Amino acid sequence: MSDTKVILSEREIPRQWYNIMADMPRLPAPPLNPKDHTPIGPDALSAIFPMALIEQEVSPHRWIDIPDEVLEIYTLWRPSPLYRAKRLEKALNTPARIYYKYEGVSPAGSHKPNTAVPQAYYNKKAGIKRIATETGAGQWGSSLAMAGRMFGLDITVYMVRVSYDQKPYRRIAMETWGAKVFPSPSNNTNSGRKILETDPNCQGSLGIAISEAVEDAATHSDTNYSLGSVLNHVILHQTVIGLEAKKQFEMINDYPDIVIGCCGGGSNFAGVSFPFLYDKFSGRQLRAIAVEPASCPTLTKGEFRYDFGDTVGLTPLLMMYTLGHDFMPPGIHAGGLRYHGDSPLVSQLVNDGIIEARAYPQLPVFEAAILFSNTEGIIPAPESSHAIKAAIDEALVAKQEGKEKCILFNLSGHGYLDLTAYADYIAGNLVDHEYPESLIKESLSKLPVIK
Ligand SMILES: *Cc1c(COP(=O)(O)O)cnc(C)c1O
Repeated sequence: MSDTKVILSEREIPRQWYNIMADMPRLPAPPLNPKDHTPIGPDALSAIFPMALIEQEVSPHRWIDIPDEVLEIYTLWRPSPLYRAKRLEKALNTPARIYYKYEGVSPAGSHKPNTAVPQAYYNKKAGIKRIATETGAGQWGSSLAMAGRMFGLDITVYMVRVSYDQKPYRRIAMETWGAKVFPSPSNNTNSGRKILETDPNCQGSLGIAISEAVEDAATHSDTNYSLGSVLNHVILHQTVIGLEAKKQFEMINDYPDIVIGCCGGGSNFAGVSFPFLYDKFSGRQLRAIAVEPASCPTLTKGEFRYDFGDTVGLTPLLMMYTLGHDFMPPGIHAGGLRYHGDSPLVSQLVNDGIIEARAYPQLPVFEAAILFSNTEGIIPAPESSHAIKAAIDEALVAKQEGKEKCILFNLSGHGYLDLTAYADYIAGNLVDHEYPESLIKESLSKLPVIK
């Protein structure tokens, strides 16, 4: 009988990250200055990022060394296990082999510490004292809080107001790891004050919180900014997931036909799939599928064009699929997937037809999560459950076709701090939101026009 888990030793943690920019057929168009729309150079970013991360952002090198100090912290939870979902396969009665890489074993319960740790490390090395960042439901904020503590950095987190009020546990985790957490919009920044003046009860959004954190960093010389997804260096750090998975498949002499990840800003999807795309670029057959919520359908219904990363318009313009920077997605339970834009790398690969994207409403996603938890045991994060749903659908297609497909998905996190979402599902209080076509149209109509 084949093993349920494939476990690597600590010595087998990859020593280098994989940079897909060395191999992709077409690079994304460069970021633009938000005011005059000219391409920005590394200098423009140096007010809020350390040079080491700016270099990674534009690096042409295929392999980039993981510093020893980062590897040492990675050993606290890496290598993460690769599971064969035998009991799920049996429940589906499918000939497909379903595997999942489980990133919920990290201290924060998701893949996000894979990049929080190197980001904290490079900032510390550059002499920075404090990092400001934003968080939605608190996954990213808690990851950076933990990483900051390990390198003796102060962490300031702007947390979307509605989550700050309604989801106290991740806030408590952040504070336990020593971070200072403010509900956003806050009175700390001009961006926050301006929004509170017109709407004192504003519930906040990820885009507003980004504006606040960027402003905080830009106006304090000892403070930098840090982003948990979207940017090239974040994607780079997450490739440790797929690189480990490749070693694990080698150990069991198997290889995926399909690689699946849920997609908010694109980092866990890219992390699991890009090392496999490396083989696809040299001729291997492989499908990669990015899965998003139907209520925030960036890749499947957005436009591929330049847009701001934040609501106020402080960040450089990024070439990406976007729903428009003031698009406010409905309040679905997969908070980590409610971002208006997407990684420029993932966007370019979707635009070039190298990877696929699909969207699911939240009810079938929760049904998939229930089936997964009832067979495999782990209660998955609502975000990750989008990948589970796609894996199940592909396994059912394989069954229909009578094919022995090999399917890998990334289980980006556990759902033990998201149990109110499950409570709502069980009580029958979850609804599927209509695809918000008119809101998207309105939001897209306000995008900057690039000459
Ligand atoms: C933040 C988060 C996501 C979405 O972010 P990506 O950058 O798209 O990976 C997905 N799953 C979990 C568990 C998260 O915390």
